[in-house]
Amino acid sequence: MIAIVPFGYPVLREVARPVEAFDKKLGRLLDRMVKVLDSRRDGAALAAPQLSALQRVVVMDYQGEFLVLVNPQILSAEGREVDFEGCLSLPGLSGRVPRFAKVRVRYQDGEGKTCEIEREGAIARCLQHEIDHLDGILYIDRMEEELLHANDGSRTMAREEVLRTAGKPPVALSLAPVARSTRRAGG
Ligand SMILES: [Zn+2]
Repeated sequence: MIAIVPFGYPVLREVARPVEAFDKKLGRLLDRMVKVLDSRRDGAALAAPQLSALQRVVVMDYQGEFLVLVNPQILSAEGREVDFEGCLSLPGLSGRVPRFAKVRVRYQDGEGKTCEIEREGAIARCLQHEIDHLDGILYIDRMEEELLHANDGSRTMAREEVLRTAGKPPVALSLAPVARSTRRAGG
């Protein structure tokens, strides 16, 4: 099972690079993302940084719509809606987030073909959430309210309290931090 990077890891706060090559490597990343998303009934979409891949790639499987979005960008947006949102990197929590009600998005599909879609409501919200991930932005950054809610209704948490944990992964994690060996011979 591939673990989703939880909040607290710096990779979620970095800006992902545009995809330039529509090659086998991208295909493998897409396969991995689809597999992880399929395994999560609670997730509508996944952005590549949530699997430690700093590339501008999103997969979405939500309300009967399956989309692979490479290099997505919001071309235009209108309206404003506030609604609950959750994130696979912040499991068990949700909060009310203001978003554009309608967005027009340009992206490339898995083969590099340029596409444009216009969506509103929940799918527009989901697209904005995922595109934010590619810029290191999480929904809690955009919240205007100070309380996050546990999905099981058991408690609320102060947004500040959650934000303070940034960069400090909790101890009991199943995912090891990316530990690139810095030890060199003679060092
Ligand atoms: Zn998310």
